[in-house]
This record gives sequence, C-alpha cells and structure tokens, in this order.
Amino acid sequence: MSQQTGSKWIEQDSAHCLHPFTNFKALNDKGSRVITRAEGIYIYDEDNNKILDGMAGLWCVNMGYNCQPLIDAATKQLQELPYYNLFFQTTHPPAVELSTLLAEVAPEGMNHVFFTGSGSECNDTVVRMVRHYWSSLGKPNKQTIISRNNAYHGSTMAGASLGGMAFMHAQGGLPLPNIVHIDQPYHFGEGQGVDANEFGLERAQQLEAKILEVGEDNVAAFIAEPIQGAGGVIIPPESYWPEIQCICDKYEILLIVDEVICGFGRTGEWFASQTFDIKPDLMCMAKGITSGYLPLGGVMVREHVAKVLTDADTEFAHGFTYSGHPAACAVAIANIKEMQKHNIVSRVREDIAPYFASRWNELLDHPMVAEARTKGLVGAIELVKDKATNERYHKDLDVGTRCREHCFSAGVVLRAVGDTMICSPPLIITRDEIDEFIEKTKIALDNTLADVSL
Ligand SMILES: *Cc1c(COP(=O)(O)O)cnc(C)c1O
Repeated sequence: MSQQTGSKWIEQDSAHCLHPFTNFKALNDKGSRVITRAEGIYIYDEDNNKILDGMAGLWCVNMGYNCQPLIDAATKQLQELPYYNLFFQTTHPPAVELSTLLAEVAPEGMNHVFFTGSGSECNDTVVRMVRHYWSSLGKPNKQTIISRNNAYHGSTMAGASLGGMAFMHAQGGLPLPNIVHIDQPYHFGEGQGVDANEFGLERAQQLEAKILEVGEDNVAAFIAEPIQGAGGVIIPPESYWPEIQCICDKYEILLIVDEVICGFGRTGEWFASQTFDIKPDLMCMAKGITSGYLPLGGVMVREHVAKVLTDADTEFAHGFTYSGHPAACAVAIANIKEMQKHNIVSRVREDIAPYFASRWNELLDHPMVAEARTKGLVGAIELVKDKATNERYHKDLDVGTRCREHCFSAGVVLRAVGDTMICSPPLIITRDEIDEFIEKTKIALDNTLADVSL
C-alpha cells in the first residue's frame, strides 16, 4: 500500500489525532492522505493532486464543494445569531424556517421535525421517541426495536446497537437490550441461486417471524435504510419494501426509515421513501441536509406520532445543545433552496442517474466485476475471482482495499466494503464528469487485476 511521506501534517497527525473507524497502528505506518482544498466534485491533496470525489465526502457533499450560497448563509447567520437553542420555551428564525421548508419537501403527512446534530443522534432520538410514544398510549411494554444485520445507523451506543455490524457490536458490549436483528436483503451476497424477488419476500417475511417471536405487544418499531449504504449499497429486490410495509401495518409496528444517505435527492426523489413507495412513521435525516457544510440532523414524524407526543402533556426528556443550531439550519435552508432553484432532484431522476446507470453498467465487461447495480446516484460493483461461479478472492488478498488504493492513484475516490466497491458522487456531477469517473474507475480495475494476478 502506498506510503505517504514528507509532510508536517502527517507527522503531527500521527502524533496527536485519533481517527474514526481506523486501525491507528496501520495508519501510523502508512500516514494519512492530507486533503487541503476542494472545488466542485474534486478534492485536492497537499501535493495538488486532483481527485474526483466519487463518494461526495461521506455521502454528503451533494451540492459540491464550492456552493457559494451555503457559505454566504453560514457567514450571515454567524454574524447575526451564531448560537441559540430551542430549549426552555425559545426558538429562532432559522429553526422555524427550516422546519417549515422540511414539511414542504418531506413525504405528505410529515410536518414535524426534531433537530439533532448528526445521523447517530437521530437514531438515539428515535429509540427514545418511539418508546415514549408507546408509553404515552398506555403500552409501555412495546420497547423492542427490530433492525437488520449489516445495517448502519451510526456510532453512538444506540446507533451502533440499531446497526447490525458485528465488528461494532463486539467493541463495547452491544447491542443494548431490546434491540434485535433480522437478515438483510442482500441478493448477490446471500441469495445466490434464488430468484431476486423470491429472496426479497423471504427476507421481508423474517420481520413477521421476529414480531411473533418477540411478541406483538413487545415490539415498538422496525428500522431500516431504504438502501443500505455503509453495508455496501444494498438495493433491495422490488418485492422487499411492499412486504415490509404490509407487515408493519398488519401488526401496528412503527416504521422508522433511516434516510441519512438516501434523503435529499440521492435516489432521484427528495426521499427514498418516495422512490420505494414507503410510508414511514418516523424518518431520520442528516448528511445531505446541509451538503455536509455544517453538522445537522433531524427526525421527521408523521402527524399521528406528533399528535401522541403533543397530547401526552409530559416532557420529552431528550435534546442536544446543538439541536437546531442556527448556522447549521441556515445552511440547510440555503441548500434546499439551491436544490429547488436548480431542479437537482428531477435532474438526477430524469437525466444524470439514467446516464450514470448506463455507464456504470459498462463496468460489468471487466473480468473482475460480477455485478453492477445503481439506484439514483449510488452504485456498487462486486469484485470476484471467477465470474462463472462468483467465487470471491481470498480474504487475505484484501482486493477491495487494494482497488480503493488504485482508485486513489487513478484520481478517483471509491469506497471498499469487503470486495464490494461503492460510490455516491455529488448530485451536481455532469455527464462529462461521469465519463471521467468511469474511465478512471476502469483504469483502477485494470491495475487491481494486474496486482492480484502477479
Ligand atoms: C452516516 C449514517 C448515520 C450516522 O450519521 P452520523 O452523522 O455519522 O452520526 C446513520 N445512518 C445512516 C444510514 C448513515 O449512513
């Protein structure tokens, strides 16, 4: 793997900075990549190498890196009211204006939002909120939340518990009590030889089995990402979501949709709940809500949930210092208005996503690529040793990580989840930039193949 050298940043970074989701020892051996500036869909390292950001940062920089109205909105708000909170009977214009705007773009019937500082905080919030909801309705036993293996819902204790990442559970004694998991609808990885829709139904029906196992009177909610992101851009078969919706309706289980990645245009609608025709009771948002310029999250709730919380007439004993931070709200408002002004959502749906899909699918011609899939502007390819049998490379070869390194060398950022390569480019990407993205990815794949064929 490439070794980064010769920079004071790298030395001080190793000396003082502990990185998220990082093996510190391995990083110190290699050294960090130092990213110093960015523009449009490109990031630049300290040697001025220009790299196409196929991940939009961490799935968030949807409007690109130099969206001036977002910068102006933050600056203006910081000058006017840099901080105030929504506790103890106070509010401020950016929080009010953003709540109103969110009600406008959210699926019909979702008109209330609880602000947080991140996606993880949204998921901590929903755990407490749905339990409070059922208690308020006189059903305090409805505590259990059903999630899925290999889901990602953040990294706080509740977020990581809702998530289904075994390696995260292993550190810290998770999951927390009353959070249980069913299997994911990952057809390529776990459903080989079975018809995709049959597989999707089977995986959805595990929800019903789990509700019956836990007891209907003990289940509060089911939580899921419309498309699993960090788990490997797992796009469920068409049969999956309608069946999940049916089961939630049948047993009166609240449906929590984690839209942290999918929200704000990623799938070609404002929310993937619209793309997949899902009717969530609660919806988690973060990342693209501000295009990542400032940290912000929010939980939107459907009218009947808002009504129970309001009618309860007891304090919802939960909140964060930065719930509804004015500068973050101001950026979110500017971000949504920019998206509306430039018709970003319909542009993704009608023009850029279909073009991206057709070009991404060309990667299937490569001898290592066994599957290519996209929805809107997320994509994944599955790397295998043998396309006839879909046999993977030996784990020790770490083909995904190697490919990620070759992507960087070729001037493009892709992310590796095992031997699945995934992408989530900024929504403002143009056709020409998609061409460049695919060409660079092809070079990286060729170099990866040469590397493992030695
Ligand atoms: C990133 C992510 C989170 C966590 O958000 P943070 O802002 O990192 O806390 C939660 N859910 C999903 C689906 C995510 O992709």
